[in-house]
Amino acid sequence: MSRTRRNPLTAGITKYALEGTVTETGLVTPTMRRIRLVADEPIPFPYRPGQHVRVQINDPLSVYGILRPSRTLRTYTIWEYLPEERELELRVHLYGGDGIGLRWAQEVAAGDRVTFWWPRGDFFTREAPYHVFIGEETASAAFGPMLRELGPSARVYGVVESAGPEHDPPLPGPHRLRRVHRNGASAASSRLLVSAVADLPLPDEPGAAYVAGEARTCQMVRDHLVRERGWDRRDVKVKPFWTPGKYGLH
Ligand SMILES: Cc1cc2nc3c(=O)[nH]c(=O)nc-3n(C[C@H](O)[C@H](O)[C@H](O)COP(=O)(O)OP(=O)(O)OC[C@H]3O[C@@H](n4cnc5c(N)ncnc54)[C@H](O)[C@@H]3O)c2cc1C
Repeated sequence: MSRTRRNPLTAGITKYALEGTVTETGLVTPTMRRIRLVADEPIPFPYRPGQHVRVQINDPLSVYGILRPSRTLRTYTIWEYLPEERELELRVHLYGGDGIGLRWAQEVAAGDRVTFWWPRGDFFTREAPYHVFIGEETASAAFGPMLRELGPSARVYGVVESAGPEHDPPLPGPHRLRRVHRNGASAASSRLLVSAVADLPLPDEPGAAYVAGEARTCQMVRDHLVRERGWDRRDVKVKPFWTPGKYGLH
């Protein structure tokens, strides 16, 4: 694919732009695709579960990318990372739309070349008496590795929204997050998710909450935790992943 050919202009910053090959793809649910990649060279960056890469759909330093910067990179969380094997897996939600990231995720196949950027993310777990995970399909891609890192002894609560039961993204056990289903409603400004959080029995003292997905829904969930439950804003880590009318949040 010409769009992933090495650009001489990026040669000086290749420590952030890595080249690799897609090794495997498959559906995890009817609307979530797993994409496995192997980097050509060892990945020289530290990693914490919950961090992401930016997949280069179009080169930001090409004439096309300079003229259309919002159509270059798309952000996906690292679902699984095996540093020795230089291998990582992404889980991409196939929402009903026409974004460039969506199209890439639908069409990419084993053998395709891919360039991905490895920025630092700060959406990861912290020390707390208990942990609360709240979000929809896109957020689940971050919750999986974060839950694995916490391990079975952690106290965990949470709600994951999806389009319907067959779209529930699988998450690693033994923790069980509540599931709610949109059944045709929008994931943007989702009152369904906020009221599911309001119904969640939580201990009286605050813990650490991790809220990701659509930006306005995230804000509504944080407002609930702060105003209705009396949590400090610093106890709620919010990471907006997308929102209507915006392109390629990171
Ligand atoms: C830190 C971070 C980590 C992320 N990790 C993941 C991940 O692991 N898996 C994953 O699937 N997504 C993830 N996302 C979200 C993903 O980057 C966005 O969904 C992105 O907008 C997709 O790019 P696109 O080109 O398809 O759409 P864009 O061109 O960015 O957007 C086009 C239109 O589609 C809408 N849109 C975008 N995403 C959705 C959606 N999910 N549902 C409904 N409408 C949508 C936009 O609001 C916009 O109106 C992450 C985002 C961030 C910031």
